[in-house]
Amino acid sequence: MTINPNPTASHFVNGTYIDDTDGQPIEVIYPSTEACIATINAATSEVIERALVSAAAAQAEWAQWSGTERGRVLRRAAEIMRERNHELSVLETFDTGKPYQETSVADATSGADALEYFGGIAATLTGEHIQLADGNWAYTRREPLGVCAGIGAWNYPTQIACWKAAPALACGNSMIFKPSQTTPLCALKVAEILCEAGLPRGVFNVIQGHGDVGEALILDPRVDKVSLTGSVPTGSKVYAAAAASLKHVTMELGGKSPLIIFGDADIENAVSGAIMGNFYSSGQVCSNGTRVFVERKIKDIFLKRLQERLTSVVVGDPQDPLTNYGPLVSGQQLAIVQDFVRKGIDEGARLVAGGSRCQREGFFMQPTVFADVTDDMTIAREEIFGPVMSVLDFETEEEVLERANRTEFGLAAGVFTRDLARAHRIIAQIEAGTCFINSYNDAPVEVPFGGMKLSGVGRENARAAIEHYSQLKSVFVRMGDLPSPF
Ligand code: NDP
Repeated sequence: MTINPNPTASHFVNGTYIDDTDGQPIEVIYPSTEACIATINAATSEVIERALVSAAAAQAEWAQWSGTERGRVLRRAAEIMRERNHELSVLETFDTGKPYQETSVADATSGADALEYFGGIAATLTGEHIQLADGNWAYTRREPLGVCAGIGAWNYPTQIACWKAAPALACGNSMIFKPSQTTPLCALKVAEILCEAGLPRGVFNVIQGHGDVGEALILDPRVDKVSLTGSVPTGSKVYAAAAASLKHVTMELGGKSPLIIFGDADIENAVSGAIMGNFYSSGQVCSNGTRVFVERKIKDIFLKRLQERLTSVVVGDPQDPLTNYGPLVSGQQLAIVQDFVRKGIDEGARLVAGGSRCQREGFFMQPTVFADVTDDMTIAREEIFGPVMSVLDFETEEEVLERANRTEFGLAAGVFTRDLARAHRIIAQIEAGTCFINSYNDAPVEVPFGGMKLSGVGRENARAAIEHYSQLKSVFVRMGDLPSPF
């Protein structure tokens, strides 16, 4: 079956595809060939208004459904996503350039997990009964927030749409989702599938556009909550705009996470962790462990095995299931990454692998490893969001802990060691929201995901996400007469 990446129309509003050709055209570029594979239009103010009106109207009705009924729709959508996994994975590869070998196991499948998980707990979302003195009592109602705006980054377009939609919808909210304009295709499929699963019209809408469209949603009084996945600079702008009307926010932002490898670690697993934490999705993963601290006594063997393992990289057509390494998402991202590599070299880091653009069409960048990196170098301080690993040496546990925490970010962290007491001791002191012991970058939906410090506000996934898509109403009930001074 040939899959045509061209969407039916640019937006999905009130249960149907719509377009407005007055909107600024946006070309969708396939990162592997640099060819334009689709053209869509940014949302005009009319499209934004239609989305807001339909999301507000639909939310009132959706919130009246029982949790069981809402959950059934989400679980049905999860099943449809799994049935269509091949088609959705091919589309994800067109949208992002990530190899099909990855997208077929990590994108629609992860989205389906979120829909299934939150579909499963929708019926269990209850308030509580609180007994008080004198026979009085109170109860709490868990209520939806209202209309949520979801704004996505370009690295996991299907997953991000589902991670935001699933808990929001389970709680009885509606959502208007704005994908990144670098990857606008996949969220439309999520909307289509939710509708096919029985979601009432208008509960989940997708509108396209750049930051200004996102901003229009944030500033609108009909929007009650904003959930952003993006960079720290965008996060602080969006957080500030949301604060003007005290909207609820979830911020999933960038990172520069430490991955600490002790001398007693299983070297092959540690190398696997460093590869998963730096080169999966060509390094375009927010939680990546890009500061790889390696205990000095195993540095040489670690680097040797890493270089050997990198010879198994298969660069090629990302739609070929044998390809295990794809291009960066855009020419702009490639230029950003190349600039960081130049800075690494200029500031004295030792290039031990990669460092160049691949000699072929597409935005391919070699997996790049720098050794002898020091904490003050730009590549050790700033988020690169590409396939660039910085290896830093350390001697002691106290030293590495202090250096690992010396960053404004706090998204993720990992430790490889056979000494589990040490692993837990380190993790307890690490300033990061999502941590791994002898593993890296697992993101099962059952586990809360999110950052500390500049890396974020709130949590996605798990029951923790429910707290960020619902609010409690407390109701005091008096059983006897009400005493009063007058
Ligand atoms: P950006 O911050 O550039 O953009 C994120 C989204 O925000 C896009 O849809 C963008 O629109 C939109 N946007 C930009 N400006 C505004 C504004 N003023 N108001 C409202 N919306 C706005 O991030 P990228 O897309 O470049 O993604 C990469 C970043 O995302 C990295 O920093 C990465 O670490 C982070 N990220 C974090 C994750 C997490 O879970 N913590 C997961 C994945 C990525 P458009 O681009 O269409 O113009």
